[in-house]
Amino acid sequence: MSAADPTSRVESLNRMLACYTAPPSITDHDGSGWHLHFRDPEVGFGPTLAGATTAAAAQYLCDRGMHRVGRCAGADCRHAFVDFSRPGRQRYCTHACANRDAVRRYRARAPQEATRVGRS
Ligand SMILES: [Zn+2]
Ligand SMILES: [Zn+2]
Repeated sequence: MSAADPTSRVESLNRMLACYTAPPSITDHDGSGWHLHFRDPEVGFGPTLAGATTAAAAQYLCDRGMHRVGRCAGADCRHAFVDFSRPGRQRYCTHACANRDAVRRYRARAPQEATRVGRS
């Protein structure tokens, strides 16, 4: 989901819900315990999984905020992420990407010192 603003994200989510989900039903197939499915039982595993993940994403973003999905701010990274952090201000997909970007910014700010540190 690359939509920038909350309204565009909701429009994308609503299109996904219309495409991938059906009215929810409760099931205990295979002795798995009562749980919700968001597709008809005869559609198979793939569509059932698409319905479950779409419904879960919509529920999570409604509960926690539409900003909690994003693209990594890393210079060379194109990964998307879901922000499960407590404050909800995640900018990078992983700590590795955050560290790489911090090093890159440091070297851009102080090129001579970064070179000296790199040689030691
Ligand atoms: Zn199930
Ligand atoms: Zn990244």
